[in-house]
Amino acid sequence: MATPLGHGLAGAIICLGCRRVGWQAPSMAAAVIVANLPDADFLPGILVGWPSRYHHGASHSIVAAMICALAIGIWSAAGKHHPTPARAGILLGVCYLSHVIIDYFTVDTGTAVGIPVFWPFSHDLFIAPHPIFGDVKRDNFFDLAILRHDLWNLVIESAVFLPLFLLLHHAARRKP
Ligand SMILES: [Zn+2]
Repeated sequence: MATPLGHGLAGAIICLGCRRVGWQAPSMAAAVIVANLPDADFLPGILVGWPSRYHHGASHSIVAAMICALAIGIWSAAGKHHPTPARAGILLGVCYLSHVIIDYFTVDTGTAVGIPVFWPFSHDLFIAPHPIFGDVKRDNFFDLAILRHDLWNLVIESAVFLPLFLLLHHAARRKP
């Protein structure tokens, strides 16, 4: 898995990009949260004392992104939370999907390597042959080697996502 920073920046970029083309995007906070949502699969593992027990399961799939989009679209329409509920669902579904794509391009050192992109139609795990992002080591944050490893991941993710985020953010502020 990449860090929450990388996933969050991807969500923010999608949000700003949609605003740039005139879509009434949901809040940036919603985009950042949904872009990190697939990693909520850590929560049941934490409850059973093995955080990565259910990690990289069904939540890391295209179908899960579609379910997320549909649920947000229905919730937005039912509660009148957004003037264009279908767009809100699609936009946040894309934020969710960005997580799956980024994790596909991330080093995985777990026992089962890769993510089930095509779940439930296939349980095969997929990972890019040449991942761009490093895995987050969570064993001991106070170990200097682990700290250096995770900080380096933040640098790589920032180098990839931050320029585009800043560009779109700057353009949005200049827009009359
Ligand atoms: Zn993930």
